[in-house]
Amino acid sequence: MHLSNKILIGLILGVVAGLIAGPESLAFIKQWVAPIGTLFINLIKMIIVPLVFASLVVGASSLGDVKKLGRIGGKTIVFYLATTAVAVTIGIVMSQLMNPGIGLKLPANAVYKGKEAPSIMDVFVNIVPTNPIKAMESGDMLQIIVFALFVGIGITLVGQRAKPVESFFDGLAEVTYKIVNVIMSVAPYGVFALILPVVAANGPKVLIPLAKVIAAVYIGCLLHMALTYSGCVSILGRMSPLKFFKGILPAQLIAFSTCSSAATLPVTMKNTQENLGVSKEVSSFVLPLGATINMDGTAIYQGVCALFVAQVYGVDLSLSQMIIIVLTGTLASIGTAGVPGAGLIMLTLTLQSVNLPIEGIALIAGIDRVLDMARTTVNITGDAVASVYIQQSEDQALNKNSSISV
Ligand code: ASP
Repeated sequence: MHLSNKILIGLILGVVAGLIAGPESLAFIKQWVAPIGTLFINLIKMIIVPLVFASLVVGASSLGDVKKLGRIGGKTIVFYLATTAVAVTIGIVMSQLMNPGIGLKLPANAVYKGKEAPSIMDVFVNIVPTNPIKAMESGDMLQIIVFALFVGIGITLVGQRAKPVESFFDGLAEVTYKIVNVIMSVAPYGVFALILPVVAANGPKVLIPLAKVIAAVYIGCLLHMALTYSGCVSILGRMSPLKFFKGILPAQLIAFSTCSSAATLPVTMKNTQENLGVSKEVSSFVLPLGATINMDGTAIYQGVCALFVAQVYGVDLSLSQMIIIVLTGTLASIGTAGVPGAGLIMLTLTLQSVNLPIEGIALIAGIDRVLDMARTTVNITGDAVASVYIQQSEDQALNKNSSISV
């Protein structure tokens, strides 16, 4: 049986078992099932830093010249920003249509004590690691990416004498890909163990009061995939959406159950290379960057939740305030780390930008995991769309060049 079918079965069995078990069995599940899920996540986490570092160094150095790196980087970032802005807008429209916050009473005990979101400028300044080893130790993806790009560019600039360094990273990247394959063979069990506690804890009863918010986020996510992504894949990537979604399904299932773009990255890379024909060169540059800065699902969620909070508190937002939400939502999603629950912290930024009460987050916190599953799935799908598009446009550029030289 194909691996993605096995993972899907693991997911479905986990949901069914979770519904049957319910909150009464939560203590048992937390003690005996959840650790298996954690073990699986640990396995994936173990490989992220070496995989991202080695593959980005190889990606950046194999492009051959710094100009090409700049061209691919520019295209990738423009694509990421544009799709993210579309995503926040879809979120806002969904909330406008479904009015999830109208008529909802704020519970008296709704208080939210969370970590504070960093300012946009802090995110920007901290992009450069003062100590790359420390960045790897703490798994700071953005810093690791920046350092890896510098090493890759350095290798390119040195040329011949840096060849041994390049082949070392090339070999290391191959080893990490193999390890991912081994880890993925136990993914069906991991997914089962991850999803079961979530469903048991958030059974239907917990979800009903906020069902409209959940529906708005899920429908928004589906629309973004069906319209924006299908359109981009077929028009810009010249690929049938069916082939695309079939090829990326295993990564989507892992994203849905782990709620982490970073943890899904190894699988996203594997799927785009093996199923969607994206070269290692392109995927090892576009995907680690995307897993860190491109979060369309998080952007949809920001749009839905900002309007939801406004509705609960009876605040009427003007058009210019909605435009501010699109801008800050886009920036906040860039600053969101690819780990579970990060989007909730960054939501405070978006709320603050239009003076909405941050306490509104307390309402969403209870169902955030369920929303995180959908948004993470969209987050990694958007990265894969970008890789297909960049691959296609690079192929085209290559064809043009070769026909000119002929
Ligand atoms: N969990 C999301 C991700 O890893 C980020 C978020 O919380 O929005 O992609």
